[in-house]
Amino acid sequence: MLPIRNHKQTKTTKESMSEAIDGVISAEENTVVSQLKKDGILQRFDPATIFGIAKNGGVGVMCSDGDPDMFPYHTRLTHRPHCVRLFGGSLLFAPSFKGFNEALAFGLLGNIRQGMTVKHTQTLFLYVHAPCGVAAMYGYGIEDQIKLAIEAMEFFAADNFFRRNKIHLLFHVKRINRAGALEQNTYKIDVDAFLAKLKHEEGERRGEAVA
Ligand SMILES: [Zn+2]
Repeated sequence: MLPIRNHKQTKTTKESMSEAIDGVISAEENTVVSQLKKDGILQRFDPATIFGIAKNGGVGVMCSDGDPDMFPYHTRLTHRPHCVRLFGGSLLFAPSFKGFNEALAFGLLGNIRQGMTVKHTQTLFLYVHAPCGVAAMYGYGIEDQIKLAIEAMEFFAADNFFRRNKIHLLFHVKRINRAGALEQNTYKIDVDAFLAKLKHEEGERRGEAVA
């Protein structure tokens, strides 16, 4: 069994990065994932419900620093797993991502649009994952990554070729579960549930500021 580190102190970027390399999320992040599951933001789903909806396979966008196990998960969603794998993955398409490079993002978007045209598909799977070395390098936590994934979705949807209802946001995580076993899962990100949570938190902050 892999050891679980208990983080009482604030982690340095270097520590976060080394964890990402170790391949499982921290105990702190594990709590975040459990809460996001409870809030209905990270949802378990039956791959069969997506398999088949994605006409001609769709295109997955994922981060290259992920454990190689992420790709086999993707193949459960589609019989034609066309895939774009780059360091940073979906984060590269979020305009507020600290490593955002406009020319790269638009260039890749054009490349994906071409690929989807030749493969006759309009389904896009935008993945974020944890632990992610690139996200850790820029100091992003799991919720930050979800925000950036939503921004990336909007970035694609602003191009008329892409349709928001054909863009699926997915989160892949490798963690030690409550039973102490190494577990990997891909969850569907419920965008509306996440935005509602942000709105609620914002309201609470304003309430506190007034009080
Ligand atoms: Zn990554």
